[in-house]
Amino acid sequence: MKETDTDVLVVGGGPAGLSAALFAQKNGLETVCFDTDETWMHKAHLFNYLGVGSVDGSAFMETARSQTDSFGVDRVGADVTDVSRTDEGFLAETEDGPYAGRYVVLATGANRDLAESLGCAFDGDLVDVDVTMETSVEDAYATGAMVRNEEWQAIISAGDGAAAALNVLSKEKGEHFHDFDVPADADAVFASMSEE
Ligand SMILES: Cc1cc2nc3c(=O)[nH]c(=O)nc-3n(C[C@H](O)[C@H](O)[C@H](O)COP(=O)(O)OP(=O)(O)OC[C@H]3O[C@@H](n4cnc5c(N)ncnc54)[C@H](O)[C@@H]3O)c2cc1C
Repeated sequence: MKETDTDVLVVGGGPAGLSAALFAQKNGLETVCFDTDETWMHKAHLFNYLGVGSVDGSAFMETARSQTDSFGVDRVGADVTDVSRTDEGFLAETEDGPYAGRYVVLATGANRDLAESLGCAFDGDLVDVDVTMETSVEDAYATGAMVRNEEWQAIISAGDGAAAALNVLSKEKGEHFHDFDVPADADAVFASMSEE
């Protein structure tokens, strides 16, 4: 049985999960993102994702995946069957064995099963979170459709994922954190990508 330790476990690799994974890994947290590739994005064509213009949903996902890969996110094509609390954080069960992480971000779209079995509080049918996306279970976050009633959009899910990761990063750094880059940073980022 394999047990892999990481900083952040992200369950779900749609816009919410990939966004959380990107922000976390880009800012120094080792991140594993599990996905079964059943994102609704495969059925969508985006005209309303600000800054993108018009793009097929699957093509958008391809770009998003290569963007997270370029920062070193470990994307794992596996179904997470359970997430449980441990003394050090969380354990995500997969067919390849469990993965351990200090934080977990649930990004399984409208599927709330893992949030329920982990013991997260609900408000009616929705997982209860505030703007940080943290659930009632400390260091466990919920994002995307599971926290919203029908008001589902890709750009909102991506924002939820970013908010969750920034809250994790704020905890890690001990002060409120934002991920701002300026044009001069681009050369350094591209150089670090080409080294990998
Ligand atoms: C027909 C249609 C058209 C749409 N058109 C638009 C549009 O024009 N504009 C727009 O903004 N939005 C549109 N949407 C909505 C948009 O696709 C969703 O808002 C968006 O995909 C939600 O992102 P998410 O990351 O929250 O969840 P999802 O995209 O659903 O991603 C969840 C991911 O988690 C994975 N997963 C689930 N459970 C597990 C598990 N246990 N282990 C591992 N992986 C798991 C799934 O396989 C999936 O890949 C459309 C949706 C549909 C159905």
